[in-house]
Amino acid sequence: MKCYLCGLDAKKTDEAHGGQLVDCSDCGIYRVSGLVLKELGAKRFDFSQMRDDLHRQRQFNATLVAEINTETAIWA
Ligand SMILES: [Zn+2]
Repeated sequence: MKCYLCGLDAKKTDEAHGGQLVDCSDCGIYRVSGLVLKELGAKRFDFSQMRDDLHRQRQFNATLVAEINTETAIWA
């Protein structure tokens, strides 16, 4: 699949409740919720702001996996 943020090749794993775990060599690992995936049909992420937020989440939560859900999604 293509990374939802940068559009490069990435690995995708389906998760419960329609979410996906994406492993992109450029953006890192992030989880996208099923609701956000539905919205992605009609909207696009704000790439640079979203990437900054993923970095912030990883530092703040001390995890490799950042979350993109309806609360953290930043739309263009
Ligand atoms: Zn990416």
